[in-house]
Amino acid sequence: MKRKFYIWCIGLLLYSLFQACSKEEFNLKEPVFHPYVLQSELQQKKVTTTKAGIRPCFSEYRYFEEDPGLSSCQLTDFGSVLLGYFDDFATDPYFDINLANYYTELHKKYVTHYRGENYYGANGEYDQLAKKRIRELTEFWNLNHNITLNGQHTVSLNDRETLTDMIESFDRSVRNRNEAYHKADLLLDVNALSSTLPESPYFAMDAFTLANGLLVIGDGLIETLVEAGIDGKIAFSAILAHEWWHQAQYKNSNSWSTDYNFTEAWELSRFIELEADFAAAYFLTHKRGATYNWKRIEEYFQLSFNVGDCLVESNTHHGTPTQRMNAAKLGYELAKAHTKKGTILSPDVVHVYFIENLDKIF
Ligand SMILES: [Zn+2]
Repeated sequence: MKRKFYIWCIGLLLYSLFQACSKEEFNLKEPVFHPYVLQSELQQKKVTTTKAGIRPCFSEYRYFEEDPGLSSCQLTDFGSVLLGYFDDFATDPYFDINLANYYTELHKKYVTHYRGENYYGANGEYDQLAKKRIRELTEFWNLNHNITLNGQHTVSLNDRETLTDMIESFDRSVRNRNEAYHKADLLLDVNALSSTLPESPYFAMDAFTLANGLLVIGDGLIETLVEAGIDGKIAFSAILAHEWWHQAQYKNSNSWSTDYNFTEAWELSRFIELEADFAAAYFLTHKRGATYNWKRIEEYFQLSFNVGDCLVESNTHHGTPTQRMNAAKLGYELAKAHTKKGTILSPDVVHVYFIENLDKIF
């Protein structure tokens, strides 16, 4: 029964996440003013983002009750940790679902438009790793494309100036900075009483990429994976490598689009996501890449399995857990095949290899 309640609860939350909020006080607007972005930059961004859209990589969580027909789609450790957050919400008398949805949307918009100093991990614990991996990935794939990595932190929603920036930029009910301060102060009062708003990792769970070169990795997502038993550095590296490949896909979209022969949107989405897993595993296990051994990478894919959803006809379908593992294994095998010479294959060659070996994944 408890599980059923949770599933319902998650369903409701996720549904709300993708809907415009009906309450005027939580009504978000498209950005009109950005303290962090030049207007000219904003205009450019509007063009690129509307064209290609956001590629969300961890925003769809799917849960299934034990069902022999869905044996590869059961709740994993990752899902259990997430359910724990909902447990916390249920016992927090100050938790408010409208405010929760407002925070997740506001935060997503903020990290999408923010330009400036960044840190990774709640205390900057992944700063050095991020620097190293960005350098490695830049050299490894040689995309010749400006890539920016924005961190996402729950503490931003508890900081008066940052929260005011967010509200002033994205909240339709607010007309100027003074009103934004006023609203931020009211929300900070709620935050002070609540044990989950906004401390829960749930409010920094974003991981996505945009065609303009922006990558976002939320602390909350890494924390959740760590709680599920995954090494934080591997989780961070794996997500970054996966998102980086989406940049290769954007960069080569003109020449590669003729290789995609899919009639359904979910088939294309599945292909794109599985190829990102494949290319990530190639980089992660390559001796001139992140040099992880396969066991560590395999463990990552196993423990974060249900991020690969099982709603096969969803337009953001990522592939089933088994398909994701097969894709990662293929990437590892390709890296291993070139171990002696240490050759780094170009994105084009890696892409063609993936297409030629699709039968090993499905
Ligand atoms: Zn992805």
